[in-house]
Amino acid sequence: MTDFETIATEMPEPGIMRIILDRPKSRNAQNTQMLCELNEAFDIGARDDSIKVIILAANGPHFSSGHDLAEQFEDQLHRLENRASTGSWGGYGKPGAESRMGIEKEIYLGFSERWRNIPKVTIAEVQGKVISGGLMLVWPCDIVIAADDAQFQDNTLLMGMTGAEFFNHPWELGIRKAKEMLFTADFISAEDARRLGGVNHVVPRGELSEFTMTLARKIAAAPGFALKLAKESVNVAQDHQGRRNAMDVSFALHQLGHSHNMQVHGAIVDPTYFKSRT
Ligand code: ZN
Repeated sequence: MTDFETIATEMPEPGIMRIILDRPKSRNAQNTQMLCELNEAFDIGARDDSIKVIILAANGPHFSSGHDLAEQFEDQLHRLENRASTGSWGGYGKPGAESRMGIEKEIYLGFSERWRNIPKVTIAEVQGKVISGGLMLVWPCDIVIAADDAQFQDNTLLMGMTGAEFFNHPWELGIRKAKEMLFTADFISAEDARRLGGVNHVVPRGELSEFTMTLARKIAAAPGFALKLAKESVNVAQDHQGRRNAMDVSFALHQLGHSHNMQVHGAIVDPTYFKSRT
């Protein structure tokens, strides 16, 4: 299998693929390399007819701290311009709002939406903290298994933003809890997320991988084409409830937030947030 640097991939059993985030020292912060490698790994799983279930897991105590804000724009641009594009928006190096919108439409909203729609069953295996961009790896998955220490947070409002780019909050947690999550930036526990429908099962930390594999094994024994059709049917039902339209509007508002911050603060997010933490 392809040599990846920021993730690892395994085929633990016939029909099952595991993709593992592997930057534990940086709490699996997602730089552009990691997102591009994730996209490539999901494509491998999608195209391999022997694979029915893809588990997305993470090494280390935390699933993901979100987007890697330490990444230099030039590095991000270089990597984006030297890869096979999956979208056609482009404009990554253009001035004004065009660059930011192009990048986020490709590797944030674009990737998460692609992964949500790949025709294989996907299971997120989640432990520790899942912060902002981290939600955009968990939420596209079909099923979420959380360790009892898992916690979910979107802290982007404190940076003058609307919420993570893949704006699935209302669909994961319901309207009221989604608002509270955004307004307060408080963590939501695994058990609260399960009660609200955003997590399928909460299991002891030590049993997380075994529980997930057992579920994956059960699903992988089902007919592959029927799994594809069932997944598509549920996804289409959710889209006809307005998910896709709502997400497009929230993405446009998100870009307005970046433009506003750039005009007021000279940065895509409000730097006051980071100063208040040091
Ligand atoms: Zn953004």
